[in-house]
Parts: sequence; C-alpha cells; structure tokens
Amino acid sequence: MASLYFKYGVMGAAKSAELLTTKYRYEETGQKVMCLKADRDSRDGECIIKSRLGLSAKANNVSEIFGKSKTYFCGYSIILVDEAQFCTTEEIDLFAKIVDEYNVPVICYGLKTDFQNHLFEGSKRLLEIADNISEIRTVCWCGKKAICNARYNEFGIVRTGEQIMLGANDQYVSLCRKHYNAGMIK
Ligand SMILES: [Zn+2]
Repeated sequence: MASLYFKYGVMGAAKSAELLTTKYRYEETGQKVMCLKADRDSRDGECIIKSRLGLSAKANNVSEIFGKSKTYFCGYSIILVDEAQFCTTEEIDLFAKIVDEYNVPVICYGLKTDFQNHLFEGSKRLLEIADNISEIRTVCWCGKKAICNARYNEFGIVRTGEQIMLGANDQYVSLCRKHYNAGMIK
C-alpha cells in the first residue's frame, strides 16, 4: 500500500537535497520519478527544484497534474513534491487521492510554519491527513534544534508582514524558539 508522507523542516534543513537524493536513488534502479513543485514558488524563474548544496532538477507545477487520468500516474514509482507548504488544501487532497486510488506513494517536503510560527495551508493539510510525518532537522546557531524560520533585515527579526515573501531566502535564519523570541539571530 502506498502512503502520503510529509517531511518537514526549517529553511536550510536540506529538504530539497533529500528530495533530489531520493529521486536519484529511484532512477538509479530504473524507476520513474515525478517531481512537482508548488506553483506559488517561482523562486528560480522556471520550475526547477534546487538545493543549496548545488543539486537541481526540472519539475512540473502541481497545477499541471489536475484533471489527469489514472494512466498518467500509474507509470510512476513515486511522486516527490518540493515546497509543499505552498500547496492548497485541494492540491494536498489530490495527492491523497493519487496515493489511495492509484497506489503511487507521494512524499511532500516543506516548511511546517511561517516566519510568525503559524502553519502554512499546505503544511496544515498534510499534518491533518498524511500517513507518515517526520522531521528533517537542523540546528540554531546555539546548537539546539531549530524550529523557527525567522525573517530578518538590517534591524533584526521582522515579526509582521505577508506570509509569503518569495525570492528572499537570504533574509531568513533558522532559530530555536528561545532565540527567535529573544530576537537573537546569532
Ligand atoms: Zn538557539
């Protein structure tokens, strides 16, 4: 039986690197992998999954799979989704349907919470319905597990604003809760 997975982690936890490594392992054994990326993330211009470690791969937008029939999915061994926090509830529900009705496993990688420590729509839905939820960990500058994606500028941590600020990865730092609340980015 296939499962719907949610692998979450803060920024810089190497989620995209793990996705691309998983893709490589499957393809190495001759299996077909579908890579998808949430539409709201146009960080790299075209639809490319990119890791800060230097790996990258072409992907399709999640919206491209709507309305496709069972035969479209059945040739695939696995579906990997990057930036799943930006998916809509409807899109996550479609992944669940692909798992349950077409028996293709779907692994979603993404952030759990935004810069104000609130759930993103896609992450909320995944926490509600995923079969398997796990954390990809990284650490705060103090060595403790990082759980907050702090947005910052030259004056320090930014605590108000739009939930999504694309193309601004250099304005985030992953912190433990204590240092997020204290406003200490290093
Ligand atoms: Zn800390």
